[in-house]
Amino acid sequence: MKIIRTKNDLSSEIAKRCEAGDKIGFVPTMGALHDGHLSLVKCAKQHSSCVVVSIFVNPTQFAPNEDFDSYPREEEKDAKQLETVGADILFLPTKEALYPDGYGCAIKAGKAAQGLEATFRPTHFDGVVNIVSRLFDAVKPDIAVFGEKDYQQLQVIKEMVETYNIPIEIIGAPIVRTDQGLALSSRNAYLSEDEIKIASTFNKILRNATQTKNLDKAKDELLSSGFDKIDYIEIRWNRVLGAAWLGKTRLIDNFHV
Ligand code: AMP
Repeated sequence: MKIIRTKNDLSSEIAKRCEAGDKIGFVPTMGALHDGHLSLVKCAKQHSSCVVVSIFVNPTQFAPNEDFDSYPREEEKDAKQLETVGADILFLPTKEALYPDGYGCAIKAGKAAQGLEATFRPTHFDGVVNIVSRLFDAVKPDIAVFGEKDYQQLQVIKEMVETYNIPIEIIGAPIVRTDQGLALSSRNAYLSEDEIKIASTFNKILRNATQTKNLDKAKDELLSSGFDKIDYIEIRWNRVLGAAWLGKTRLIDNFHV
């Protein structure tokens, strides 16, 4: 696996790979990798012959009160894990490389970004399309893989490539979970052992709500399980989607109805 830190080095490596006939796959991440991320790399390998993974904790998708500073950063461990699943290129850009002229962005998140996450994180999806469009420009992939874990994000990205005629196929990959059904997340590292037990009820309650469609009951069940606050539980895109707080950790999950 090649580790590349500048956009110039990335462009020349990608140009070489394209000349050799490679199809470029791309998996953008913020690092602190787990099996969910690695499953995206495996998925990308099935759809392409050269997989680029980026790790970049993107400041523009965090609000000032959020966890940008404390977000886990584990570059060496991440690189080792990516080797095991056969990633070809690890792109580790600096903030200066990706935002050379500040944070301005002509591309805005579209309709898919209304409600749900955006009600509670109003600047989040503009930050996501800002960074993803910049990364797409740097990598110029043929396909890119995103997890269904961030289901609204996946819809926002699909809408972005359609609206702006970006010639990249967007592929959604299923959520990877623990044996208890807890969706893997880099933020699970914030949870204590007791909190992990409570967090593991989230998926069961959401899955149950796909049958009952009783979202108020699901909210009550979450609160009695030990969750501190529920941002939302809603049905959209034929999915039950939810976000809830456990101490200082915000968890999201979703299930097909
Ligand atoms: P992040 O590093 O959290 O920005 O996530 C990078 C990519 O990994 C996004 O496309 C996420 O949706 C995806 N992802 C995160 N957790 C999981 C999971 N448990 N299963 C599948 N994909 C995931």
